[in-house]
Amino acid sequence: MIMSEKCKQHVDSCRFCWMCHHICPIGNATGHERSTARARALGISLVNRGAIELEEIMDNVYECCTCGACVHDCTTGWDPVMFTKETRLQAALEGKLPEYIKTLVDNCLKTGNAYGKTELCADLSAAIDAHKEKTDTLLYLGTDARYMACAQAVKAIKVLENAGVQFSVLRGELPSGAQLDFLIGAANETKEQMSACAKMLDEYKTVVVYDPNDSKAIKQLYKEYGVEVKADVLTYTAFVASLIKDGKLKAKNTGKNVVFQDPYQLSRDLGETEPAREIIRAYADLSEMLLNREETVWAGNILMAQYLPDVIALVAERRIFNTKSIGAKAIVTACVSEYTALKSVNSDIEIISVEDLIVG
Ligand code: SF4
Ligand code: SF4
Repeated sequence: MIMSEKCKQHVDSCRFCWMCHHICPIGNATGHERSTARARALGISLVNRGAIELEEIMDNVYECCTCGACVHDCTTGWDPVMFTKETRLQAALEGKLPEYIKTLVDNCLKTGNAYGKTELCADLSAAIDAHKEKTDTLLYLGTDARYMACAQAVKAIKVLENAGVQFSVLRGELPSGAQLDFLIGAANETKEQMSACAKMLDEYKTVVVYDPNDSKAIKQLYKEYGVEVKADVLTYTAFVASLIKDGKLKAKNTGKNVVFQDPYQLSRDLGETEPAREIIRAYADLSEMLLNREETVWAGNILMAQYLPDVIALVAERRIFNTKSIGAKAIVTACVSEYTALKSVNSDIEIISVEDLIVG
């Protein structure tokens, strides 16, 4: 397999070690050593040495959610996310993607979302139409919210309406490229989606990005891939926290005891941990869950649930167990994908989004 020298070095260093296997959300959910970073490195190194075929490890390569917990924990500085994504790219270039991934990629290319959806729900259509006039500020909803969690997208709009913000929402919003980046890494198709999205965002002075996955793509990956965005890009949580600080949103603390599920894209990738906490403290009493902020444990997502539904359910169940173990009764999320994963678990723990806290 063709692989950069940098990635080969990381693969060959990581494969002898298992110091981070205890923090891998997928490994912990499956209970399989093969799901962890060093096992993935071992498989890739076997392909690099010609001992096995690339196709033989691809299911395993797509088990990684790229949450970066291993990267964060690795005291020697090796990066399993980097070599996992480069292996996905190489498999795409060699035509060796698993069929279930090919379907998701084809959907991204045809419809702009991995789910192949083309219709918005009626409530979201109406909410978007109410903000079709061009303003200086764009609320960028993202594909997961638009097509898989439209009630949350409607609430995200409502929060800004309650604060009296003048903003636009696009019916024909282009994808950020985050899904393609997850599926096939830095392929030309990924960069093309990113460039088209950047051009669309640059029509606005300020862009508020609802989904942390898109925030990570636009604020971090675009730079890595040489895609420039001139607009001022803010995460939804940072923007809403500023609305509360400026007195535009009138908060009332209900005294409800909650914990916060830090999305790794905000806490580890973008270094944002406090704005969501500021929002929550304005509406509820916040306790901290085991493994929070940069140490957060991923709670699942919608995209991987398309091909690993049982594993994603176990990932979410484990995070709910972390919540129960400190006696908390409710989790607040700031990521629509984690919200959906946690909500799908049958449990007596209440799952609330930041928008739920604000607009009910
Ligand atoms: S990422 Fe670091 S800690 Fe984890 S297995 Fe590889 S070398 Fe070990
Ligand atoms: S990025 Fe996350 S899911 Fe992938 S190996 Fe590392 S800890 Fe596990």
